[in-house]
Amino acid sequence: MSQLTSEQRSELLKNKDLHIFGEDLSQLELVGCEECDTIYRRVDLAAGERAYCECCGAELYRQPKSFTSLLALVITAFIIFVIANSFPIVKVELQGNFSQTTLLGAAWTMFQIDRAFVGILILITTFIVPLIDLMLLMYVLTSIGIFKTRPKFLRLTLRVLFLFRVWGMVEVFLIGVLVTLVKLVGMVIVIPGIALWAFGILSILLVYISSIKIKDIWDEIDRCLS
Ligand SMILES: [Zn+2]
Repeated sequence: MSQLTSEQRSELLKNKDLHIFGEDLSQLELVGCEECDTIYRRVDLAAGERAYCECCGAELYRQPKSFTSLLALVITAFIIFVIANSFPIVKVELQGNFSQTTLLGAAWTMFQIDRAFVGILILITTFIVPLIDLMLLMYVLTSIGIFKTRPKFLRLTLRVLFLFRVWGMVEVFLIGVLVTLVKLVGMVIVIPGIALWAFGILSILLVYISSIKIKDIWDEIDRCLS
């Protein structure tokens, strides 16, 4: 991978196409490090390979999975998301009295006990953001992977997906629930619900899905539709 000098880099920012190393380069053939701004010439990678920055070691890009297999993964995550929100997370028993709740039920309880801020945070980070994230990914991947057409709101969709990356916190919620359950054991009888297992699987899937950079999806779209 050839590294550009700072003069070539600043020249590149002004011009869409540039003559470097005796060749015509377009911006599509270049990739910038998100951590240190060093610009490199893109090289083709084999499946599963990743390119790293020589200066800071950050990941530059990788060869993403095909859109159809990524779509299958997103649909699976969506189905598990529906299951996780349709069944109780946990059932507790104290002196013959049973109590159980779903994720939305837990958020609603927060509103009822004047903890509206916590309720809103739970709703946003574990329900609204993951739901919109999965639906937008399905929209983009279906349009390009199956119908081979550029989605009408592609730019807006990918920007929203990029912004939402930091707000999805299903795994944090799951760890919070598990810590609470461990503390409750001994005081009450705790019976894990279907949704608890579903949230565990969903967390793993979402971590994998969010490890795929939006930039790599952009590049794959350019490659597929060019
Ligand atoms: Zn770097």
